[in-house]
Amino acid sequence: MTILDLRPLLDNRDITAREILDDIYRRIDAVEDRVKAFITITKDEAYQMAKEAQDAIISTRMSLLTGIPIAVKDNMCTKGILTTCASKILNNFVPPYESTVTGKLKNQQYCLVGKTNLDEFAMGSSTENSGFHTSRNPWDLFCVPGGSSGGSAAAVAAGECIAAIGSDTGGSIRQPASLCGVVGLKPTYGRVSRYGLVAFASSLDQIGPITKNVSDAAAMLTVIAGHDHLDSTSAPVATSDYAGALGKDIKSLRIGIPKEFFIEGIDKDVREAVNAAIRKIESLGATVIEVSLPHTAYAIATYYILATSEASSNLGRYDGVKYGYRESGKDLIEMYMNTRAKGFGSEVKRRIMLGTYALSSGYYDAYYKKAQQVRTLIRRDFDNAFKEVDVIVTPTSPTPAFKIGEKATDPLQMYLSDIFTISVNLAGAPGISIPCGFTRDNLPVGLQIIGKHFDEETVLKTAYAYEQSTEWHLRRPPL
Ligand code: GLN
Repeated sequence: MTILDLRPLLDNRDITAREILDDIYRRIDAVEDRVKAFITITKDEAYQMAKEAQDAIISTRMSLLTGIPIAVKDNMCTKGILTTCASKILNNFVPPYESTVTGKLKNQQYCLVGKTNLDEFAMGSSTENSGFHTSRNPWDLFCVPGGSSGGSAAAVAAGECIAAIGSDTGGSIRQPASLCGVVGLKPTYGRVSRYGLVAFASSLDQIGPITKNVSDAAAMLTVIAGHDHLDSTSAPVATSDYAGALGKDIKSLRIGIPKEFFIEGIDKDVREAVNAAIRKIESLGATVIEVSLPHTAYAIATYYILATSEASSNLGRYDGVKYGYRESGKDLIEMYMNTRAKGFGSEVKRRIMLGTYALSSGYYDAYYKKAQQVRTLIRRDFDNAFKEVDVIVTPTSPTPAFKIGEKATDPLQMYLSDIFTISVNLAGAPGISIPCGFTRDNLPVGLQIIGKHFDEETVLKTAYAYEQSTEWHLRRPPL
C-alpha cells in the first residue's frame, strides 16, 4: 500500500499505526536477509513513534505522514540514532541534532523504520562502495539496486517500508529508483533543505522522496519542501501542494527529447521501453519536439571535477578528533593519517585525491575553474531548451540493473551509469524517474522527466498522467 492508501484507513481507525508497523517488520523479517537494504533497523524507536502517531490520530491532530513507516538514507542526521554514511569513519557517530527533513517528518509523527544502506558518503551507483555490505535488487538478487540510495530504493521495492528518503548528487535518487522499479524525485536545488544531510558535493546534493507511485512522491515533497534558514543554499521560493497539480491533463504540454541523449550504448530493451513511453505521452495529447543540449558530452567530466573537489573539502573534517572513529599514531599527524587511511574506503580516497589535485594551485584554473565554466554552459543548454518545451524526457539510466561485481573494478564504467542524470544536477533542475517498462529479463526500466527550475508541478503532472495510463508501477518483485 501507498501513503495515500493508508491515510484514510488510519484516520478512520480501520487500522492502527502499530498494525502497519507489525506488517512492515514481518516483511523485513521475511526478506531483509536477502535484500540487505538497511544498515540500522530502528524497531524500538519506530514503535514509540507509532504510539505517538496513534495518540495524534485519536485526538485528530494527524498530518499526511502520521503513522506512516518510512526509511531514511543513512546520510541524514537523526538525533540519537546512529548515522554512518556507510563509512567506517562514522561507524559510531550518533548525531546530537536532527536534519531539517527528518525533523519535518517527525513533526508529522512518521515512523522511522530504519536507516538505509548507500555507497560510502553517497559516492557510487550500486551500493557496492558501502563500507558495510552491498544491497541487492529485489527484482534479481544477483543484481545491484543502483546507488547511491540503493538501500532506500530496494526497501521501497521490497515492501520493507511504505516510502523512503534518498539524496541525489548526480543521480542517486533517480538511478536506483529506475533500477528497482519505483518512483524517485530529485527536487530543484534549493527546494529542500540540506541541513543535517552529510555533505558530499554541496552545490549538487539534494534530498528527495523514493515512493511506489507519483502521488506519494508529490505528497512527500509537499512535506519536505521549503525555505530553511539553517541552510544558506535553501531557496526562499514559495512551495505548493504538489498533489494538487496531479490529474490535470497534459494536452497543451510540449515535451522535449534531447537528441544527444539517445546515444549508442543504451541497452536495446531500455531504448524500446523509453520510446514506447514517449509515444504514450504523445498519445495523451502532448506535443513531442526534438531539442538539443549541446554540452551533454562534457557533463560526466565536469561533474567528476566539481563533485570530487567539493568532496575533498567537505571530507576534511573527518580527522579522528571531531567524530567517532580514531586510529592511534605516535603524534597528531600520524593519528590523522592512520584514521583516514583505515576509516575511508577506496572510492572515497580516490575522490579525495582527484579533488585535491583539481583544486591545487597550478591546476585550479585548468580543472576546477574550467569545470565551473562548462557547468554554466550546461545550465544554459537547459535554459535554452526550456524556452521551447515544458519538460524534457530521457531514459533515467542507459542500462537496467547490472550484476553485482560487473562494474565494481572499473570506476570509469561505473561513472557512466549516471550519464543521463548528472547534467540535471549540474543545471540544478528537478527530475523524476518513474517505471516505464521491463526488459526481457524482467528488470525494471525508468523514464526520466526533467523540468524547469522550481517547476516540480509540471514534472509531477506529466509523470502522473503517464503513470495513470500504464500499469508498470503496480508490478511487484517476485521475492
Ligand atoms: N553516481 C554518482 C557518483 O558516484 C552520483 C552519486 C550521487 O548522486 N550521490 O558520484
